[in-house]
Amino acid sequence: MDFSYTEAQESFRHELRDWLEENLPDGWLENPEIPSDREERNAFFKEWQQTLAADNWAGIHWPEAYGGRGASLIEQTIYREEMARVNAPPQINLIGVNLIGPTLIEVGTEEQKERFVPNILSAEEIWCQGYSEPESGSDVASLTTKAEKDGDEWVINGQKIWTSYAHIADWCFLVARTDSSGTKHEGLTAFLVDMDQDGISTEPIHQANDDRTFNQVYFDDAVTTDDLVVGEVDEGWDVVMTLSAFEHGMTSIYSIEQEYLDLLEYCQEETRGGTPLIEDDNVRRQLADLDARIQAAKMTHYRNVSTQMETGTPGPEASMDLVVSDELRKDLLNFAVDIKGPAAALWDNEHEAVDETSGYIRSYGSWIAAGTGDIQRNIIGEQVLGLPKDIKSKTSHRGE
Ligand SMILES: Cc1cc2nc3c(=O)[nH]c(=O)nc-3n(C[C@H](O)[C@H](O)[C@H](O)COP(=O)(O)OP(=O)(O)OC[C@H]3O[C@@H](n4cnc5c(N)ncnc54)[C@H](O)[C@@H]3O)c2cc1C
Repeated sequence: MDFSYTEAQESFRHELRDWLEENLPDGWLENPEIPSDREERNAFFKEWQQTLAADNWAGIHWPEAYGGRGASLIEQTIYREEMARVNAPPQINLIGVNLIGPTLIEVGTEEQKERFVPNILSAEEIWCQGYSEPESGSDVASLTTKAEKDGDEWVINGQKIWTSYAHIADWCFLVARTDSSGTKHEGLTAFLVDMDQDGISTEPIHQANDDRTFNQVYFDDAVTTDDLVVGEVDEGWDVVMTLSAFEHGMTSIYSIEQEYLDLLEYCQEETRGGTPLIEDDNVRRQLADLDARIQAAKMTHYRNVSTQMETGTPGPEASMDLVVSDELRKDLLNFAVDIKGPAAALWDNEHEAVDETSGYIRSYGSWIAAGTGDIQRNIIGEQVLGLPKDIKSKTSHRGE
């Protein structure tokens, strides 16, 4: 593997670095503070995304024709490294930019692309992803939310759960059952659904760290139209697979390394009983262990990127990145909470604390989102190591 960057790649890094210096929110580099009020925070994330989009930095992996930069995988890697280095705020329309936009560009109709894609990068319309249901999470294909045809409309009834951003979303990328006569992977259809209608209600789920970022969503005679079907009717599983390839490409190893460096700095500066934390043998041992794991995870990720460059498609190896980074983040934040001692227990419940304690609690959710660690291990076992197949649940959507 060749770790050196070409001149063009280095100049891409510098162009981005310069842009960030000029465009990050005022005072961000000295004190990266996010508003504690939920609405103000969403407005802050939206403004940040719009600043990025104005200079084509919001979805660099998108084709240029759609407002992206057609960035290579190496450029995307550099982008993530640089964003993590300055601890850049997240974009408000994360699901739209990373999942829905690329999926529509790949399998949407020309009309759908024209209507929806431009408003994703500019954050004019926020998206959520309606897959999981109370009885269908890992096994998405067993979902039972129904869409029934009525003229050129579809009437939707059922319930989704854990739907991130549904409370602020304008549109939902929904998968529903349109035919119950076949196997569970048959008879599914993907729809674009307007969230602003009487037939849809959302109820935020109050999380252990005081976040309220995901929701239960109820569809009670909600309506969408024929022209908002994505792909073929009853062939929605293909669309689910297209979207999940983009989902599995989302590793957080870059931000974990930055969090580690911040913790290292803390340990170098903080003292206990007059002695710097960094001089404590146990602290040093744990920091060294985390550092070694982070470097190994990065190398594995770079190797996966190299494989993807050769094959042209994200492979099952992306599951390795997800498993490793989710577990590393949990261990790193657990250690950070320990190191901070009683101070880590203090957090003002009026606000959503953006600190180690909150992050540590949230890290359990990261292990579950986008397919649990167990499901990723199944993928690695079957598709990377060639082990025998998981004995899939025999239960179908009809409860047989
Ligand atoms: C932070 C967060 C954000 C989310 N955002 C969204 C969203 O925007 N849209 C959306 O649709 N969903 C979202 N989800 C839901 C997420 O996709 C599901 O929670 C996830 O797929 C697991 O499903 P489940 O919760 O029903 O657990 P289950 O599938 O019921 O799993 C329960 C346990 O059994 C294990 N298990 C299940 N099947 C197998 C198997 N075959 N082999 C081995 N072990 C197995 C699991 O690993 C888990 O430990 C989000 C979840 C979280 C935590």
